Amino acid sequence: MNIPIFVPHVGCPNDCAFCNQRSITGVTEAPAPESVGLIADEYLSGGRTGPHTIAFFGGSFTGIEPRLQRGYLAQAKKYLDSGRISGIRLSTRPDYIGPEQLDLLEEYGVTNIELGAQSMDDAVLAASGRGHDSAAVRRASALVRERGFTLGLQMMTGLPLDSPEKSMATAEEFIALGAEETRIYPTLVMENTRLADMYRAGAYSPQTLEEATELGARLYGKFRAAGVKVLRIGLSDSAELKGGCVAGPYHPAMGEAVVSRFVRGQLEKMVENGRLDIEAPKKYFSKILGLRRCNAEYFLGNGVGLTLTEGERPLVNGKYLLEF
Ligand code: SF4
Repeated sequence: MNIPIFVPHVGCPNDCAFCNQRSITGVTEAPAPESVGLIADEYLSGGRTGPHTIAFFGGSFTGIEPRLQRGYLAQAKKYLDSGRISGIRLSTRPDYIGPEQLDLLEEYGVTNIELGAQSMDDAVLAASGRGHDSAAVRRASALVRERGFTLGLQMMTGLPLDSPEKSMATAEEFIALGAEETRIYPTLVMENTRLADMYRAGAYSPQTLEEATELGARLYGKFRAAGVKVLRIGLSDSAELKGGCVAGPYHPAMGEAVVSRFVRGQLEKMVENGRLDIEAPKKYFSKILGLRRCNAEYFLGNGVGLTLTEGERPLVNGKYLLEF
């Protein structure tokens, strides 16, 4: 479980076309290093069980002034050393990773580094104003892995000049680079971004919700088959996100919508004689039926008879259904 500390836009001189950190996180100022302890204490006393990780999200952590990085990390390390958390994770840009940055992160016991790669297609990266190319992602990924950190690679779909094929190729390359974790973010057009200007000028068309969900399900399946953990699909919903979203595939529960679609695809392959007779542990029911029963309605709408009963392992028409 992550204890999220948002460090918005601190140290970031870049201007990615899609980015307005304020709208995305709902946080306008970086917290003082001392507040790391307060946030962690609140989480740890909240009765949530299981291992916790302090996670610095929201900006480009290794772009922050090193003294401030040390301030944040020193607070987090106290919790790591006392065994109250099991790891420290952070996200940053691929071009902000080099041997010196990694020395510092190693010194404070950082365990997981997530790189905002977004795409492995140079035309997409350039059109999105990322300010780095795919070679930077390859270089940083190799360094992160050589030094023994867990590598996470984050991607976006539906960026300017992007296509489903380019997104699938990006996923393939993430796997080849040794990513152990990933996050998938369908691009939303947020207010006060260059992408919003492009959209209003007719120079950018966002994905539809259907396109983003379908592609998300294909990507989820690909990563899952390769053993890459999908940590998140879609931004966390919030009033700021919803209110600031001008266009694009906004969904309050994008991750669930995508996993529902993935499961639907799995089930579709197992229809026999117009029927899906499913047995599964209760914990799978909501995923099988789909978000707000969308899968059940899809199959019934297509004339497929569906029954769902409780069983020990997921079986469809007597055959094993992959766990998800
Ligand atoms: S590098 Fe990250 S924080 Fe900076 S503008 Fe781009 S997306 Fe936003």
